[in-house]
Amino acid sequence: MSNSLNNNTNSIPYARLYSLFTVRTPLAADCGAVCGGRCCRRLFRGEEDAPSGMLLFPGESAFRQAAGWTAGTLLPSGQDSLFLCGGFCRREERPLACRIFPLFPALEADGRIRAVYDPRAWRVCPLVRMHRHVPLERPFVRAVRQAGREIARTPAGRDFLARQTEEIREFNRFLRLDRERAPICRKKTAPAGENRRASITGKEFLS
Ligand code: SF4
Ligand code: SF4
Repeated sequence: MSNSLNNNTNSIPYARLYSLFTVRTPLAADCGAVCGGRCCRRLFRGEEDAPSGMLLFPGESAFRQAAGWTAGTLLPSGQDSLFLCGGFCRREERPLACRIFPLFPALEADGRIRAVYDPRAWRVCPLVRMHRHVPLERPFVRAVRQAGREIARTPAGRDFLARQTEEIREFNRFLRLDRERAPICRKKTAPAGENRRASITGKEFLS
């Protein structure tokens, strides 16, 4: 993969953003093993005969092409592109939207980035529907925020985040996920004498 892809200060450093999520995942446990990898299956069947896929961020398609990743199909979606994968991929090639799922780095009115549950993942992802019971890993949530900050440094990235945040706001008029507390993993308070390293992994609720 060419380093020149990341040397342009006007471009989003996808190699770095992808690497943020090499080991960071929503839960310490493999949530895909518990839910059957729903985000890599149903989404792509087109449940209502409409093509659905993962939204690529600005310039991500060019980054992927330059990296020689040719798997998947691209579909135009308004100003953006959808990536359709057929439900399987090489892990190191998965798009950014798959890595941050089911969160999104929302651009707030004051310019700050907040990692929020993406209400568009409500139907697919049990982590969104069970957000009150299944906390997410703090390093994962922080990485989503960090990725959002990097993206917001470019005009195209800021514009994209603003548009997506507006769409999320529209969904939240019904789902009201924006009223929920930040999706951060909370350590279980261990009673005296119990193993103090015990914590909620999320698996307890999903199985
Ligand atoms: S992110 Fe959600 S839908 Fe995807 S594997 Fe994890 S729990 Fe399942
Ligand atoms: S690209 Fe990979 S991670 Fe993303 S939805 Fe498809 S199979 Fe899942």
